[in-house]
Amino acid sequence: MKSITILGATGSVGGSTLDLIERNPERFRVEALTANCDVERLAAAARRTRAKLAVVADETCHRALSDALAGTGIETAAGAGAVAEAAARPTDLTMAAIVGCAGLPPVMEAVRRGGTIALANKEALVSAGTLMTDAVRRHQATLLPVDSEHNAIFQCLEGSDLDSVRRIILTASGGPFREWRRADMASVTPEQAVKHPNWSMGAKISIDSATMMNKGLELVEAHHLFPVGSERIEIVVHPQSVIHSMVDYVDGSVLAQLGTPDMRTPIAYALAWPARMGTPCEPLDLTTLGRLDFEKPDMERFPALAVARDALEGSAARPAILNAANEVAVRAFLDRRIGFLDIVAVVVDTLERYDPADPATLEEVFAIDREARILAEEGLKTHCL
Ligand code: NAD
Ligand code: MG
Repeated sequence: MKSITILGATGSVGGSTLDLIERNPERFRVEALTANCDVERLAAAARRTRAKLAVVADETCHRALSDALAGTGIETAAGAGAVAEAAARPTDLTMAAIVGCAGLPPVMEAVRRGGTIALANKEALVSAGTLMTDAVRRHQATLLPVDSEHNAIFQCLEGSDLDSVRRIILTASGGPFREWRRADMASVTPEQAVKHPNWSMGAKISIDSATMMNKGLELVEAHHLFPVGSERIEIVVHPQSVIHSMVDYVDGSVLAQLGTPDMRTPIAYALAWPARMGTPCEPLDLTTLGRLDFEKPDMERFPALAVARDALEGSAARPAILNAANEVAVRAFLDRRIGFLDIVAVVVDTLERYDPADPATLEEVFAIDREARILAEEGLKTHCL
Protein backbone atom coordinates (compact mmCIF):
# COMPACT_ATOMS: atom_id res chain seq x y z
CA MET A 1 0.00 0.00 0.00
CA LYS A 2 1.53 3.30 -1.10
CA SER A 3 0.61 6.51 0.70
CA ILE A 4 0.17 9.52 -1.59
CA THR A 5 0.02 13.27 -1.03
CA ILE A 6 -1.37 15.35 -3.89
CA LEU A 7 -0.34 18.99 -4.07
CA GLY A 8 -2.84 20.68 -6.40
CA ALA A 9 -5.47 17.93 -6.03
CA THR A 10 -8.31 19.94 -7.63
CA GLY A 11 -6.54 20.63 -10.92
CA SER A 12 -6.30 18.71 -14.16
CA VAL A 13 -3.26 16.59 -13.17
CA GLY A 14 -4.51 16.34 -9.57
CA GLY A 15 -7.91 15.09 -10.80
CA SER A 16 -6.33 12.48 -13.09
CA THR A 17 -4.17 11.32 -10.19
CA LEU A 18 -7.24 10.94 -7.96
CA ASP A 19 -9.00 9.03 -10.72
CA LEU A 20 -6.20 6.45 -10.84
CA ILE A 21 -5.91 6.22 -7.06
CA GLU A 22 -9.64 5.71 -6.64
CA ARG A 23 -9.66 2.93 -9.23
CA ASN A 24 -6.99 1.14 -7.17
CA PRO A 25 -8.00 1.46 -3.51
CA GLU A 26 -6.02 -1.68 -2.62
CA ARG A 27 -2.78 -0.11 -3.89
CA PHE A 28 -2.99 3.49 -2.65
CA ARG A 29 -4.13 5.48 0.33
CA VAL A 30 -4.20 9.26 0.57
CA GLU A 31 -2.18 11.11 3.19
CA ALA A 32 -2.88 14.77 2.29
CA LEU A 33 -4.65 16.73 -0.45
CA THR A 34 -4.08 20.42 -1.12
CA ALA A 35 -5.70 23.07 -3.33
CA ASN A 36 -5.69 26.82 -3.66
CA CYS A 37 -9.34 27.51 -2.72
CA ASP A 38 -11.59 25.07 -4.58
CA VAL A 39 -13.19 23.91 -1.33
CA GLU A 40 -16.01 21.87 -2.83
CA ARG A 41 -13.80 19.67 -4.99
CA LEU A 42 -11.14 19.37 -2.31
CA ALA A 43 -13.57 18.39 0.42
CA ALA A 44 -15.36 15.89 -1.83
CA ALA A 45 -12.04 14.25 -2.83
CA ALA A 46 -10.87 14.17 0.81
CA ARG A 47 -14.12 12.44 1.86
CA ARG A 48 -14.03 9.91 -0.98
CA THR A 49 -10.41 8.95 -0.40
CA ARG A 50 -10.53 9.27 3.40
CA ALA A 51 -7.51 11.57 3.32
CA LYS A 52 -5.92 12.34 6.65
CA LEU A 53 -5.43 16.04 5.89
CA ALA A 54 -6.92 18.63 3.52
CA VAL A 55 -5.28 22.03 3.05
CA VAL A 56 -6.24 25.21 1.20
CA ALA A 57 -3.50 27.70 0.33
CA ASP A 58 -5.93 30.61 0.47
CA GLU A 59 -6.60 31.31 4.16
CA THR A 60 -9.94 32.97 3.45
CA CYS A 61 -11.26 29.53 2.40
CA HIS A 62 -10.36 27.74 5.63
CA ARG A 63 -13.72 28.26 7.32
CA ALA A 64 -15.59 26.78 4.35
CA LEU A 65 -13.21 23.80 4.27
CA SER A 66 -13.53 22.99 7.96
CA ASP A 67 -17.34 23.31 7.69
CA ALA A 68 -17.36 20.98 4.66
CA LEU A 69 -15.30 18.37 6.49
CA ALA A 70 -16.91 18.74 9.94
CA GLY A 71 -17.45 15.40 11.65
CA THR A 72 -15.30 13.42 9.21
CA GLY A 73 -12.18 13.36 11.36
CA ILE A 74 -10.19 14.75 8.42
CA GLU A 75 -7.75 17.37 9.64
CA THR A 76 -7.82 20.75 7.86
CA ALA A 77 -5.35 23.62 7.58
CA ALA A 78 -4.84 26.78 5.52
CA GLY A 79 -2.13 29.05 4.17
CA ALA A 80 0.95 28.62 1.99
CA GLY A 81 2.89 27.51 5.09
CA ALA A 82 0.33 24.77 5.77
CA VAL A 83 0.67 23.51 2.16
CA ALA A 84 4.44 23.28 2.72
CA GLU A 85 3.85 21.50 6.05
CA ALA A 86 1.55 19.03 4.31
CA ALA A 87 4.35 18.32 1.82
CA ALA A 88 6.78 17.79 4.69
CA ARG A 89 4.66 14.98 6.20
CA PRO A 90 6.03 11.53 5.46
CA THR A 91 4.38 9.81 2.51
CA ASP A 92 5.57 7.29 -0.08
CA LEU A 93 4.90 9.55 -3.06
CA THR A 94 4.17 13.24 -3.47
CA MET A 95 2.36 14.31 -6.62
CA ALA A 96 3.53 17.88 -7.29
CA ALA A 97 0.66 19.25 -9.40
CA ILE A 98 0.37 22.87 -8.28
CA VAL A 99 0.54 25.31 -11.18
CA GLY A 100 3.32 27.90 -11.14
CA CYS A 101 6.22 28.84 -8.92
CA ALA A 102 3.79 28.80 -5.95
CA GLY A 103 4.50 25.06 -5.95
CA LEU A 104 8.21 25.47 -5.32
CA PRO A 105 8.18 25.72 -1.47
CA PRO A 106 6.13 22.53 -0.95
CA VAL A 107 8.16 20.63 -3.57
CA MET A 108 11.34 21.62 -1.72
CA GLU A 109 9.84 20.37 1.56
CA ALA A 110 9.26 16.99 -0.05
CA VAL A 111 12.82 17.06 -1.42
CA ARG A 112 14.28 17.88 2.02
CA ARG A 113 12.65 14.86 3.60
CA GLY A 114 14.18 12.69 0.88
CA GLY A 115 10.80 11.88 -0.63
CA THR A 116 9.79 10.46 -3.98
CA ILE A 117 8.25 13.28 -5.97
CA ALA A 118 6.16 12.86 -9.11
CA LEU A 119 6.85 16.23 -10.70
CA ALA A 120 4.21 17.81 -12.95
CA ASN A 121 4.86 21.32 -11.62
CA LYS A 122 7.52 22.29 -14.19
CA GLU A 123 7.59 25.96 -13.16
CA ALA A 124 9.13 24.98 -9.79
CA LEU A 125 12.06 23.23 -11.47
CA VAL A 126 12.46 25.93 -14.13
CA SER A 127 12.75 28.61 -11.43
CA ALA A 128 14.97 26.77 -8.95
CA GLY A 129 17.06 24.88 -11.53
CA THR A 130 20.20 23.30 -10.10
CA LEU A 131 19.27 24.46 -6.60
CA MET A 132 16.51 21.86 -6.78
CA THR A 133 18.48 19.09 -8.50
CA ASP A 134 21.43 19.59 -6.09
CA ALA A 135 19.04 19.34 -3.14
CA VAL A 136 17.51 16.19 -4.64
CA ARG A 137 20.97 14.59 -4.67
CA ARG A 138 21.93 15.86 -1.23
CA HIS A 139 18.74 14.58 0.41
CA GLN A 140 18.60 11.42 -1.69
CA ALA A 141 15.17 12.35 -2.93
CA THR A 142 13.78 10.94 -6.19
CA LEU A 143 12.21 13.00 -8.98
CA LEU A 144 9.88 11.12 -11.31
CA PRO A 145 8.91 13.30 -14.28
CA VAL A 146 5.17 13.45 -14.98
CA ASP A 147 5.23 15.97 -17.82
CA SER A 148 4.45 13.61 -20.72
CA GLU A 149 7.60 14.44 -22.72
CA HIS A 150 9.91 14.07 -19.72
CA ASN A 151 8.18 10.94 -18.61
CA ALA A 152 8.72 9.57 -22.13
CA ILE A 153 12.42 10.46 -22.02
CA PHE A 154 12.70 8.93 -18.55
CA GLN A 155 11.17 5.71 -19.89
CA CYS A 156 13.42 5.70 -22.99
CA LEU A 157 16.51 6.30 -20.82
CA GLU A 158 15.79 3.69 -18.19
CA GLY A 159 19.07 2.20 -17.11
CA SER A 160 21.21 4.06 -19.67
CA ASP A 161 24.19 6.26 -19.13
CA LEU A 162 23.71 9.88 -20.33
CA ASP A 163 27.12 9.60 -22.05
CA SER A 164 25.54 7.23 -24.53
CA VAL A 165 22.89 9.80 -25.52
CA ARG A 166 23.47 11.77 -28.72
CA ARG A 167 20.29 13.84 -28.60
CA ILE A 168 17.06 14.17 -26.74
CA ILE A 169 14.17 14.93 -29.09
CA LEU A 170 11.39 16.78 -27.33
CA THR A 171 8.15 16.62 -29.30
CA ALA A 172 5.69 19.52 -29.38
CA SER A 173 2.11 19.48 -30.66
CA GLY A 174 2.48 23.05 -31.93
CA GLY A 175 -0.70 24.05 -30.07
CA PRO A 176 -3.95 25.43 -31.51
CA PHE A 177 -2.19 28.05 -33.68
CA ARG A 178 0.41 25.78 -35.28
CA GLU A 179 -0.71 26.74 -38.78
CA TRP A 180 -1.70 30.33 -38.10
CA ARG A 181 -0.04 33.40 -39.51
CA ARG A 182 1.48 35.56 -36.80
CA ALA A 183 -0.64 38.57 -37.79
CA ASP A 184 -3.79 36.51 -37.19
CA MET A 185 -2.62 35.48 -33.72
CA ALA A 186 -2.75 39.11 -32.56
CA SER A 187 -6.50 39.02 -32.03
CA VAL A 188 -7.05 35.55 -30.58
CA THR A 189 -9.21 35.34 -27.47
CA PRO A 190 -8.50 33.36 -24.28
CA GLU A 191 -11.32 30.97 -25.31
CA GLN A 192 -9.54 30.18 -28.59
CA ALA A 193 -6.15 29.90 -26.95
CA VAL A 194 -7.16 27.46 -24.18
CA LYS A 195 -8.56 24.98 -26.73
CA HIS A 196 -5.71 22.55 -27.13
CA PRO A 197 -6.08 20.17 -30.09
CA ASN A 198 -4.89 17.02 -28.25
CA TRP A 199 -4.87 17.51 -24.49
CA SER A 200 -7.35 18.73 -21.89
CA MET A 201 -5.37 20.73 -19.34
CA GLY A 202 -5.48 23.65 -16.89
CA ALA A 203 -5.80 27.18 -18.33
CA LYS A 204 -2.21 28.28 -17.70
CA ILE A 205 -0.48 25.37 -19.43
CA SER A 206 -3.01 25.54 -22.28
CA ILE A 207 -2.02 29.16 -22.97
CA ASP A 208 1.65 28.17 -22.66
CA SER A 209 1.03 25.50 -25.30
CA ALA A 210 -0.55 28.09 -27.60
CA THR A 211 2.44 30.46 -27.35
CA MET A 212 4.79 27.43 -27.29
CA MET A 213 6.31 28.85 -24.10
CA ASN A 214 5.32 25.46 -22.69
CA LYS A 215 7.94 23.84 -24.90
CA GLY A 216 10.42 26.52 -23.84
CA LEU A 217 9.76 25.72 -20.16
CA GLU A 218 10.03 22.03 -21.02
CA LEU A 219 13.40 22.59 -22.65
CA VAL A 220 14.65 24.06 -19.34
CA GLU A 221 12.95 21.24 -17.44
CA ALA A 222 14.60 18.60 -19.66
CA HIS A 223 17.98 20.27 -19.24
CA HIS A 224 17.78 19.89 -15.46
CA LEU A 225 16.28 16.39 -15.42
CA PHE A 226 18.57 14.97 -18.12
CA PRO A 227 21.79 17.03 -18.16
CA VAL A 228 23.16 16.11 -21.59
CA GLY A 229 23.87 19.76 -22.53
CA SER A 230 21.13 22.06 -23.80
CA GLU A 231 22.54 22.03 -27.35
CA ARG A 232 21.72 18.33 -27.45
CA ILE A 233 18.04 18.86 -26.70
CA GLU A 234 16.10 19.35 -29.91
CA ILE A 235 12.48 20.35 -30.38
CA VAL A 236 10.39 18.74 -33.14
CA VAL A 237 6.77 19.61 -33.87
CA HIS A 238 4.61 16.47 -34.01
CA PRO A 239 0.95 17.52 -34.33
CA GLN A 240 -0.63 14.18 -33.34
CA SER A 241 1.04 14.05 -29.86
CA VAL A 242 1.42 10.27 -30.10
CA ILE A 243 5.20 10.13 -29.78
CA HIS A 244 5.69 11.84 -26.44
CA SER A 245 9.48 12.29 -26.94
CA MET A 246 12.56 10.36 -28.05
CA VAL A 247 16.14 9.58 -27.12
CA ASP A 248 18.74 9.26 -29.90
CA TYR A 249 21.69 7.12 -28.75
CA VAL A 250 25.28 7.28 -30.05
CA ASP A 251 24.85 3.94 -31.83
CA GLY A 252 22.04 5.33 -34.00
CA SER A 253 19.19 3.73 -32.04
CA VAL A 254 16.30 6.10 -31.46
CA LEU A 255 13.92 5.10 -28.67
CA ALA A 256 10.47 6.66 -28.50
CA GLN A 257 7.58 6.33 -26.08
CA LEU A 258 4.16 6.36 -27.73
CA GLY A 259 0.60 6.40 -26.48
CA THR A 260 -2.75 8.08 -26.92
CA PRO A 261 -2.48 11.57 -25.44
CA ASP A 262 -3.85 11.01 -21.92
CA MET A 263 -1.99 12.29 -18.86
CA ARG A 264 -3.10 9.24 -16.91
CA THR A 265 -0.38 7.22 -18.65
CA PRO A 266 2.61 9.25 -17.36
CA ILE A 267 0.84 9.73 -14.02
CA ALA A 268 0.31 5.97 -13.70
CA TYR A 269 3.95 5.38 -14.56
CA ALA A 270 5.00 7.65 -11.67
CA LEU A 271 2.41 6.23 -9.25
CA ALA A 272 3.38 2.61 -9.86
CA TRP A 273 7.12 3.15 -10.41
CA PRO A 274 9.21 1.02 -10.52
CA ALA A 275 6.31 -1.30 -11.45
CA ARG A 276 3.48 -0.57 -13.90
CA MET A 277 -0.27 -0.38 -13.40
CA GLY A 278 -3.32 -0.55 -15.65
CA THR A 279 -5.15 2.59 -16.77
CA PRO A 280 -8.44 3.22 -18.58
CA CYS A 281 -6.52 5.05 -21.35
CA GLU A 282 -7.54 4.22 -24.93
CA PRO A 283 -5.08 1.73 -26.46
CA LEU A 284 -3.03 3.24 -29.28
CA ASP A 285 -4.39 2.26 -32.70
CA LEU A 286 -1.75 3.08 -35.30
CA THR A 287 -3.67 1.84 -38.33
CA THR A 288 -6.64 4.09 -37.55
CA LEU A 289 -4.20 6.93 -37.01
CA GLY A 290 -2.55 6.14 -40.36
CA ARG A 291 0.32 8.61 -40.15
CA LEU A 292 2.56 10.57 -37.82
CA ASP A 293 3.86 13.98 -38.97
CA PHE A 294 6.92 15.98 -37.99
CA GLU A 295 7.93 19.59 -38.67
CA LYS A 296 10.67 21.98 -37.65
CA PRO A 297 9.38 24.53 -35.13
CA ASP A 298 8.89 28.01 -36.63
CA MET A 299 10.95 30.36 -34.45
CA GLU A 300 9.53 33.48 -36.14
CA ARG A 301 5.91 32.70 -35.45
CA PHE A 302 6.72 31.21 -32.03
CA PRO A 303 9.55 33.35 -30.58
CA ALA A 304 9.00 31.90 -27.09
CA LEU A 305 11.15 28.93 -28.07
CA ALA A 306 14.20 31.08 -28.80
CA VAL A 307 13.55 33.30 -25.77
CA ALA A 308 13.51 30.26 -23.48
CA ARG A 309 16.62 28.71 -25.04
CA ASP A 310 18.39 32.02 -24.65
CA ALA A 311 17.34 32.24 -20.99
CA LEU A 312 18.59 28.72 -20.37
CA GLU A 313 21.96 29.52 -21.90
CA GLY A 314 22.31 32.73 -19.84
CA SER A 315 22.80 33.08 -16.07
CA ALA A 316 20.94 30.86 -13.61
CA ALA A 317 18.54 33.71 -12.79
CA ARG A 318 17.20 33.99 -16.37
CA PRO A 319 14.84 30.98 -16.34
CA ALA A 320 13.33 32.18 -13.04
CA ILE A 321 12.68 35.61 -14.57
CA LEU A 322 11.31 34.03 -17.76
CA ASN A 323 8.91 31.91 -15.73
CA ALA A 324 7.73 34.67 -13.38
CA ALA A 325 7.13 37.16 -16.22
CA ASN A 326 5.31 34.48 -18.20
CA GLU A 327 3.03 33.66 -15.25
CA VAL A 328 2.11 37.34 -14.91
CA ALA A 329 1.60 37.78 -18.66
CA VAL A 330 -0.54 34.63 -19.05
CA ARG A 331 -2.74 35.77 -16.14
CA ALA A 332 -3.10 39.20 -17.78
CA PHE A 333 -4.02 37.61 -21.13
CA LEU A 334 -6.64 35.39 -19.45
CA ASP A 335 -8.00 38.55 -17.75
CA ARG A 336 -8.13 40.26 -21.18
CA ARG A 337 -5.67 42.94 -20.11
CA ILE A 338 -3.16 42.20 -22.90
CA GLY A 339 -3.27 40.53 -26.30
CA PHE A 340 -1.96 37.08 -27.17
CA LEU A 341 1.26 38.29 -28.82
CA ASP A 342 1.93 40.57 -25.84
CA ILE A 343 2.52 37.55 -23.60
CA VAL A 344 5.98 36.81 -24.97
CA ALA A 345 6.67 40.54 -25.48
CA VAL A 346 6.17 41.11 -21.73
CA VAL A 347 8.54 38.22 -20.98
CA VAL A 348 11.19 39.66 -23.31
CA ASP A 349 10.81 43.17 -21.79
CA THR A 350 11.19 41.79 -18.28
CA LEU A 351 14.30 39.80 -19.21
CA GLU A 352 15.78 42.94 -20.78
CA ARG A 353 15.10 45.09 -17.74
CA TYR A 354 16.32 42.75 -15.03
CA ASP A 355 19.65 41.00 -14.79
CA PRO A 356 20.36 40.00 -11.19
CA ALA A 357 23.26 37.86 -10.01
CA ASP A 358 22.86 34.08 -9.96
CA PRO A 359 20.72 32.94 -7.04
CA ALA A 360 22.79 31.00 -4.50
CA THR A 361 19.85 30.05 -2.28
CA LEU A 362 16.15 29.36 -2.65
CA GLU A 363 15.40 32.60 -0.82
CA GLU A 364 17.25 34.39 -3.63
CA VAL A 365 15.15 32.52 -6.20
CA PHE A 366 11.99 33.72 -4.44
CA ALA A 367 13.36 37.28 -4.36
CA ILE A 368 14.10 37.15 -8.10
CA ASP A 369 10.64 35.70 -8.76
CA ARG A 370 9.00 38.52 -6.76
CA GLU A 371 11.01 41.29 -8.43
CA ALA A 372 10.41 39.86 -11.91
CA ARG A 373 6.65 39.82 -11.20
CA ILE A 374 6.73 43.49 -10.18
CA LEU A 375 8.62 44.41 -13.36
CA ALA A 376 6.33 42.30 -15.54
CA GLU A 377 3.26 43.96 -13.95
CA GLU A 378 4.77 47.36 -14.81
CA GLY A 379 5.51 46.09 -18.32
CA LEU A 380 1.86 45.12 -18.80
CA LYS A 381 0.97 48.81 -18.87
CA THR A 382 2.81 49.36 -22.14
CA HIS A 383 0.85 46.48 -23.72
CA CYS A 384 -2.61 47.20 -22.28
CA LEU A 385 -5.56 46.55 -24.58
P1 NAD B 1 -4.69 23.37 -12.90
O1 NAD B 1 -4.81 24.83 -13.01
O2 NAD B 1 -5.74 22.50 -13.49
O3 NAD B 1 -4.55 22.97 -11.34
C1 NAD B 1 -3.65 23.62 -10.50
C2 NAD B 1 -3.79 23.14 -9.06
O4 NAD B 1 -2.91 23.94 -8.25
C3 NAD B 1 -5.19 23.29 -8.46
O5 NAD B 1 -5.42 22.25 -7.55
C4 NAD B 1 -5.10 24.61 -7.71
O6 NAD B 1 -6.04 24.72 -6.65
C5 NAD B 1 -3.68 24.59 -7.20
N1 NAD B 1 -3.11 25.93 -7.01
C6 NAD B 1 -3.17 26.97 -7.87
N2 NAD B 1 -2.54 28.04 -7.36
C7 NAD B 1 -2.06 27.66 -6.15
C8 NAD B 1 -1.32 28.33 -5.13
N3 NAD B 1 -0.96 29.62 -5.24
N4 NAD B 1 -0.98 27.63 -4.02
C9 NAD B 1 -1.35 26.34 -3.88
N5 NAD B 1 -2.06 25.66 -4.81
C10 NAD B 1 -2.41 26.32 -5.92
O7 NAD B 1 -3.25 22.97 -13.49
P2 NAD B 1 -2.80 21.63 -14.23
O8 NAD B 1 -3.11 21.76 -15.66
O9 NAD B 1 -3.26 20.45 -13.46
O10 NAD B 1 -1.21 21.76 -14.13
C11 NAD B 1 -0.52 21.55 -12.91
C12 NAD B 1 0.97 21.52 -13.21
O11 NAD B 1 1.24 20.38 -14.03
C13 NAD B 1 1.48 22.73 -14.00
O12 NAD B 1 2.77 23.05 -13.60
C14 NAD B 1 1.48 22.23 -15.44
O13 NAD B 1 2.45 22.88 -16.23
C15 NAD B 1 1.87 20.77 -15.25
N6 NAD B 1 1.41 19.89 -16.32
C16 NAD B 1 0.08 19.76 -16.56
C17 NAD B 1 -0.37 18.92 -17.59
C18 NAD B 1 -1.84 18.76 -17.85
O14 NAD B 1 -2.21 17.92 -18.67
N7 NAD B 1 -2.72 19.49 -17.23
C19 NAD B 1 0.57 18.24 -18.38
C20 NAD B 1 1.93 18.39 -18.10
C21 NAD B 1 2.33 19.22 -17.05
MG1 MG C 1 4.40 18.43 -21.56
